[in-house]
Amino acid sequence: MSSANHNFINGAWVASRAGRTYEQKNPADLTTVTGLWQKSTADDVNLAVEAAAEAFASWSGLSVYQRAGHLKKALALMETHRDRIAAVLTAENGKTLRESQAEIASAIKEMDFQIAEGVRMGGSVMPSEQDGVFAYQVRRPLGTVAVIAPWNFPFNVPCRKVTPALMAGNTCVLKPAGLTPGVGAEFVRVYEEAGLPAGVLNFVTGSGSEIGDTLVSHPKVKAISFTGSTEVGTAIHQKAAAALTRTQLEMGGKNPIVVLADADLAAAADSAVLAAYACAGQWCTSTSRALVEKSVLSEFLDLLLSRVGRIVVGKGTDPRTTMGPVCGESQLRNILAGIEKGKAEGARLLVGGGRVGEGDLGRGCFVEPTVFADVRPEMFLAQEEIFGPVLSVMAVDDFDEAVRVANGVRFGLASSIYTRDLRKAMTFAEKTDVGLTHVNMPTAFKEPQLSFGGVKLSGQGTPEAGRSGIEFFTEHKVVYVKYR
Ligand code: NAP
Ligand code: MG
Repeated sequence: MSSANHNFINGAWVASRAGRTYEQKNPADLTTVTGLWQKSTADDVNLAVEAAAEAFASWSGLSVYQRAGHLKKALALMETHRDRIAAVLTAENGKTLRESQAEIASAIKEMDFQIAEGVRMGGSVMPSEQDGVFAYQVRRPLGTVAVIAPWNFPFNVPCRKVTPALMAGNTCVLKPAGLTPGVGAEFVRVYEEAGLPAGVLNFVTGSGSEIGDTLVSHPKVKAISFTGSTEVGTAIHQKAAAALTRTQLEMGGKNPIVVLADADLAAAADSAVLAAYACAGQWCTSTSRALVEKSVLSEFLDLLLSRVGRIVVGKGTDPRTTMGPVCGESQLRNILAGIEKGKAEGARLLVGGGRVGEGDLGRGCFVEPTVFADVRPEMFLAQEEIFGPVLSVMAVDDFDEAVRVANGVRFGLASSIYTRDLRKAMTFAEKTDVGLTHVNMPTAFKEPQLSFGGVKLSGQGTPEAGRSGIEFFTEHKVVYVKYR
């Protein structure tokens, strides 16, 4: 094992002051340690925040074109190093190399858009009521911001958050998920190689429960952008409120696909399988409920099960694999516990339902693609995010019941309806309580030029991405000038 990897503070790779490290283990084979990482403490976080705060004046003093210049170099280096980054992503997260490449490609597209948005970020001029007064409004950066990233999109999510933050002129402290420090380090390395000035982007690894509070409560941190669980996001919001620090929270989901009797059922089954099992069901926009009109339920189930049967579970590095392991032991435990609850509450297990434990795969965190039927709205399987390869199929009498059931959860991230009836499609789009919805498209579909964020317990604050991406990282200033 090579020596431990470091934090990145004020332009240098440095060890934690406390000298503690932890091991990251490959979820496809828990006996493989991919690297040693700093188990940082509050001291390290404080140093990182101070470095970022120190760098703020000069970074925000650059023209937006100069900032864009730095970020464009980093963007080009992501292209250059995409194979290396994908290998780290698959080793730490477990997703297939194809999925890792897709994540990086998507990060590059989002970054490209957010750089352009940053350059275009202007203000507005309004006529004044006063004679000889010129009044205008500009946006300005907040200062130092914190980005707390998840392990499910450990490259794309930091990219989506850090790009608008830096383009607006903020400086940043990035805390990657404990499970994916190496991907975070790859993200930081492209900026380092691009020559980003010291202190503009800092990186501290370690456990969120140990260092999170220091980062969230630091008086010099002016905003927190977080992706992860609803529980941690809610706690961050409460702590941040004490100092009126703004938050942007992207959290859990229980995303439904509604399949009506008139739908293209094969397309609906393709969509459900794609969005339920890609990345082993660990997208925040994964489909976890299929709400199917009774008259087509058995036909839909046949189509669904034949597709699920073709999923090849294996290591993400094996080109034959279509579904990799789940990300780590605690995910494995929680997902299997969720499946057991589903069995106990009387849902009908159609396929899967256990760990893939044979041979080589027995050393990893592999879960069978799982389908439950006869799931009722009040059940755990219908209400709680499992964040694994588990799809709950629920029968509904008609469109109205589908809408009611779709909305009858605490979450509101994504949804989808499959139908050829324009009236029902548009009515669903109007009534579904989510941040993004789809007609005849998977729940996970998204594009960088449109906002991304949930409602209810799925999201809080100005949404990421699209034109709102940069809004979160800026505040407004109004200027009145009397010239006559
Ligand atoms: P999590 O605990 O919410 O982790 C998300 C991020 O927050 C990680 O960087 C984590 O660091 C950090 N964190 C943890 N405790 C913190 C605290 N007290 N203060 C500040 N930051 C803190 O999520 P998880 O434990 O990795 O996963 C649990 C469940 O969350 C999943 O099963 C899934 O249901 C949900 N989840 C949702 C998404 C999404 O895309 N919306 C993404 C990931 C997870 P550490 O990793 O060091 O703890
Ligand atoms: Mg956690």
